Amino acid sequence: MTVTRLAPSPTGAQHLGNARTFLITWLAARTQNSTIILRIEDIDSPRVKPESVTSLAVDLEWLGLDWDVGPIRQTERLARYQDALAQLQQQERVYPCTCSRSDIAHAASAPHWEHEGPVYPGNCANRRASDAASLTGRPFAWRFRASDPGPFCDGFMGQVHLNPCEIGGDFVVWKSADTPAYQLAVVVDDAEMGVTHVIRGDDLLPSTPRQILLYQALVLPQPQFAHVPLVIGADGRRLAKRHGDTRLSAFREQGIAAERVVGLLAWSCGWIDRIEPISARDLLRLFQWATIPKQPFVVSPDVLAAIGFRLNS
Ligand code: GLU
Ligand code: ZN
Repeated sequence: MTVTRLAPSPTGAQHLGNARTFLITWLAARTQNSTIILRIEDIDSPRVKPESVTSLAVDLEWLGLDWDVGPIRQTERLARYQDALAQLQQQERVYPCTCSRSDIAHAASAPHWEHEGPVYPGNCANRRASDAASLTGRPFAWRFRASDPGPFCDGFMGQVHLNPCEIGGDFVVWKSADTPAYQLAVVVDDAEMGVTHVIRGDDLLPSTPRQILLYQALVLPQPQFAHVPLVIGADGRRLAKRHGDTRLSAFREQGIAAERVVGLLAWSCGWIDRIEPISARDLLRLFQWATIPKQPFVVSPDVLAAIGFRLNS
């Protein structure tokens, strides 16, 4: 029995890039009889937008993607993350950090490449977990002592070796009072929900060795990982607002059928030869990992014009 998940962050509307990863995940799961969990990663409270939670289900249903369990919201699971933090404290794997740095500010959200900062210099690393008691009145985060777990085998990319000590260093697992960091929440959730296959965008690759360290520290079974290339703009950067409005709602507003969007994505994955409308369900017999290009999918206004979409900025 295999289990996978769709794990969107409702910090904004879902766009074409999210749709491509969701489609690959859904097809990989449905062709393997995997259970699909929908998990809403909503712990990043100031950035989470309530309307994004609602529009998420609309977007997934529009694309023809369903799920078996959930939606489960991370904000309902705080006690689980607190238990895990307590275990890490007991083992002295974490220490309280009083630095105010951008990796702490962003810790509740997944660190997509552009959020990866410099290596933490270790200013607070000589503290013990119990020193937190004497930090009364001072805000602090919890950092995990990084090490190198060695290479892991990615289901799409093959062997990958990224050393957390060289990327970011000691990383944040708890941001502040009631806010766990993405790294800890995702590991606790994937383990407890029995997730066997994690499929996500390859800009989260540097998070994977960190998560492997947490699986090991918490003595939890590790899932298999598969990281897929992103959708980027013509400027080579991850698809975002600067590229114009590629929210799925914008396609709906221009009267473009979901099958056209799915067809464009299917073509980008090499499952069909021409850009033509097709439903997610009809892709079940065409899905394969092998044809998905190793390079990112570049979305230019021309590509979008092929399905009748006008890119407005
Ligand atoms: N919620 C994360 C995001 O949307 C994905 C996390 C994951 O798949 O591990 O960026
Ligand atoms: Zn510090």
